[in-house]
Amino acid sequence: MRGHQRVHRLAGDLRIPLIDYPLLEGDLVFRHRGRLLRFRLPSDLPADLTDGLSPWEKTRWPHRLHLAYSENADPLADDDPRSALQWLRDLGLSRRGEAFVRTFATLDPEQTSAAHFLRIARREAAGGNSQVLAGGSDRLTEALAARHAQSIRRNTPIRSVLIGENTATLVDAAGVAHVADHVVLALPLGPLLALDYRPGQPRWLSRWGEARVVAHELKVHAQVDAREFATLGIRQHIMGLEFPRMTWLLPERSANGKAVLNATAVHRQLALVKEARFRGVQDMHRLLRQRLPLLRSLEVTTHGEDWENNPLIGGAYTYVPTGSRGSPPVLGEGPLVLAGSDYSDYSGWMEGALQSAEAAVSEILRS
Ligand SMILES: Cc1cc2nc3c(=O)[nH]c(=O)nc-3n(C[C@H](O)[C@H](O)[C@H](O)COP(=O)(O)OP(=O)(O)OC[C@H]3O[C@@H](n4cnc5c(N)ncnc54)[C@H](O)[C@@H]3O)c2cc1C
Repeated sequence: MRGHQRVHRLAGDLRIPLIDYPLLEGDLVFRHRGRLLRFRLPSDLPADLTDGLSPWEKTRWPHRLHLAYSENADPLADDDPRSALQWLRDLGLSRRGEAFVRTFATLDPEQTSAAHFLRIARREAAGGNSQVLAGGSDRLTEALAARHAQSIRRNTPIRSVLIGENTATLVDAAGVAHVADHVVLALPLGPLLALDYRPGQPRWLSRWGEARVVAHELKVHAQVDAREFATLGIRQHIMGLEFPRMTWLLPERSANGKAVLNATAVHRQLALVKEARFRGVQDMHRLLRQRLPLLRSLEVTTHGEDWENNPLIGGAYTYVPTGSRGSPPVLGEGPLVLAGSDYSDYSGWMEGALQSAEAAVSEILRS
């Protein structure tokens, strides 16, 4: 997002160009009960979709209802015991509005603490238009590794962490030990808690597992001829209450000139997508074509990361669960320091990974 200054600075420093999403013209499309509803303004949406929304909600964009509520809301105390859903209901969210919030908010409103949800929604609303890193986000890590080739070793999975008084030893999959007086574990929460700690997992570290919940996001990529959208007079944003909740095109074209269509699933939509995904590309393909029949050129290319079988994948982001109180656990003790997006103010964003790196450096310098 434009507000993610650390990512912008690093991309500039590494000379990785940023590409803007183009300005879009044409109708938006909402898939509803087998129909494809075109609309330009929320007021264009038919009654069977908006029935049950409050008069105010009917004037807002259905996919941004959670942001509309967050925009005008008073700040919340961190120890507010309510879930985001309870808080939104207190603000007047209708039953019908709930269906929209559950679909389009990336954080599950029932599971997430109201204060955390509000913080994330405010960031999302203030983020401005997004950009992409040319060639994909992995170029950041690849360029850093190339610049510091002497100091960075890649593809070295760590299995065990031996914690000493003034040093820590990491034992990799090949059984090689790496000793240091400070070790920064820059890992998402899932892989972090899966490591084998000796003499045992420190309590301060386990507390992160109790203080955060890991959420998954599955992204499916398909190739599509971008001219189809112009011919149909629609934008790339095709939405629906079921998977795919929202589609959009990456601004870069593939080598064959085709555009890459993104479709994401979160929360309750995941089960269906996971099932199709595990049955193979053909099933995933069938599912997406069935849901987006207007795109004739659509062809599924990748169908998301295998987070259940690949132990290095930690999930898309963590959130603060409902009922959680007080300040977050500490970020380090003895020779160990934590870093990574999950322990930052921007959980779920690359900006958070960079912010946490700054915090880790300060922590090391302080000690
Ligand atoms: C589908 C999806 C879409 C996203 N979209 C965006 C977006 O549009 N914008 C945005 O800003 N962010 C996005 N994110 C979030 C962003 O990718 C993360 O916030 C960011 O990558 C977190 O960085 P990190 O350094 O904390 O962890 P990671 O990037 O996960 O880095 C951790 C590294 O540690 C490695 N590792 C794990 N276990 C071990 C081990 N035992 N030994 C050695 N190495 C290990 C992993 O392989 C990985 O390379 C998205 C994430 C997902 C999953």
